[in-house]
Amino acid sequence: MAETVKIALDPRVEAFLAKGPKKLFIGGEFVESLSGKTFETIDPSSGEMITTVYEADAADVDRAVEAAERAFHGDWAKVSPSERGRMLWKLADLMEEHAEALAQLETIDNGKPVTHARAADVPLAIDHFRYFAGWSTKLSGEVINNSAGRNMLTYTRHEPIGVVGQIIPWNFPLLLAAWKLGAALATGNVVILKSAEQTPLSAIYLAELIQQAGFPEGVVNIITGYGPTAGAAITNHPRIRKVAFTGSTEVGKLIMQQAAGNLKKVSLELGGKSPNIIFPDADFSKAIPGALMGIFFNQGQVCCAGSRLFVHKKVYDNVLADMTSFAAKMKQGPGLDESSEIGPLVSSEQFERVSGYLQKGNEEGATALTGGSPLDRAGYFVPPTIFADVNDRMTIAREEIFGPVVAAMPFDDEAQIADVIRRANDTEYGLAAGVWTTDLRKAHRVAHALEAGTVWVNCYNALDAAVPFGGYKQSGYGREMGSYALDLYTQVKAVWINLD
Ligand code: ADP
Repeated sequence: MAETVKIALDPRVEAFLAKGPKKLFIGGEFVESLSGKTFETIDPSSGEMITTVYEADAADVDRAVEAAERAFHGDWAKVSPSERGRMLWKLADLMEEHAEALAQLETIDNGKPVTHARAADVPLAIDHFRYFAGWSTKLSGEVINNSAGRNMLTYTRHEPIGVVGQIIPWNFPLLLAAWKLGAALATGNVVILKSAEQTPLSAIYLAELIQQAGFPEGVVNIITGYGPTAGAAITNHPRIRKVAFTGSTEVGKLIMQQAAGNLKKVSLELGGKSPNIIFPDADFSKAIPGALMGIFFNQGQVCCAGSRLFVHKKVYDNVLADMTSFAAKMKQGPGLDESSEIGPLVSSEQFERVSGYLQKGNEEGATALTGGSPLDRAGYFVPPTIFADVNDRMTIAREEIFGPVVAAMPFDDEAQIADVIRRANDTEYGLAAGVWTTDLRKAHRVAHALEAGTVWVNCYNALDAAVPFGGYKQSGYGREMGSYALDLYTQVKAVWINLD
């Protein structure tokens, strides 16, 4: 095993971890779960326990709903849009002061390289709150010309929905908490957010900053617990009016069923099996690192990962040879080692799942050019894996692996491009897609033909708070980020005033 040099822990992280089981944040206070039950959170680089966390269940969700309703009809209703914006901005400032602690916690809990948490997760989360702080003061309806009567005044108001439940996964715990909270709070809602059981820590640390940022008690409630108990209590709750979920397509379907009881508004950001298409006229100095980052970033645990790589047959061998030599040299190790370029998977379940797909790939006749079997060491390490000799029907080309595993396939119809588009679209998913070409016309034509909520041309995994993100087909519905996210958290009221 390569030597690892871990960074010294930030004293704020040490102090945070030293404070007994982590509590739920309900009604502005840190409280134990009513059952008193706790669960362990595990360091994926070693498999050892980091700390324990209180486990919320339905009774705690009830308590959070009551606190949230009180805030919605009470103190939060008195806060002006401009003050809401200031609180979100203040939260972003506090996160900036605590950026190193947040990055380290994310790494300890999720496993990702700390250099990535510092460069991506934390600054993007901060930026997200600042972007939505600006929207707080910019929500407005319209006065509508009508034909119902000369003196009939009609206008619309964009009002908050009320108590909103938000359920997030473990791959970007802090960033996805920001994606969820930013738009919901800017539009005046109150929130119960449940973090993933694998990665509860950064959301609890964020709760401390939320408390300091001055949000009235009960506006944001953050709970930790399991999906079928705490998560289902949110989606089933009759007084939660909307649920926003990010996670697997399988659980997304359950969420919809559970939410049907009181016809909750539902928004879902689900899985993907995104095609990444390299044409022979690509700039390979960008396409090769782009394709590598597209699949290996965050250990491949990215819903929009470019996991199906279509490479034109003229350049297929060279592209794969270059990618393989890069991937084979990537330094894999604990996230707290600043020289690690790729970390462990998040959990033993995920390790088993991804290892199972490696086995399937090998059994079904694909060739691992690099990687191909899990590492025999402590922690949940699966090496970057490039499978060649893949065909469209193999399991590794169809199912979401959510690990550092790419299925590479040649295509050969540059003149028509129709065939590669048909293959790229031949999936129930539709979250994202990548295109690498220097031909502007081809870039647009292909971008328009791909069935995906995001198409990246000559880039991959680019995200910005101002640009909408979400899925076609079974990758979900609703768009987070940008002005589009405001629709998820507001309802439109038409007001009629008879002036006669
Ligand atoms: P992944 O497959 O990425 O582990 P999941 O979709 O299983 O993600 O989980 C994402 C989030 O959904 C987590 O916070 C998890 O606790 C929650 N969850 C899982 N099952 C349910 C459920 N039946 N109802 C509500 N939330 C759930």
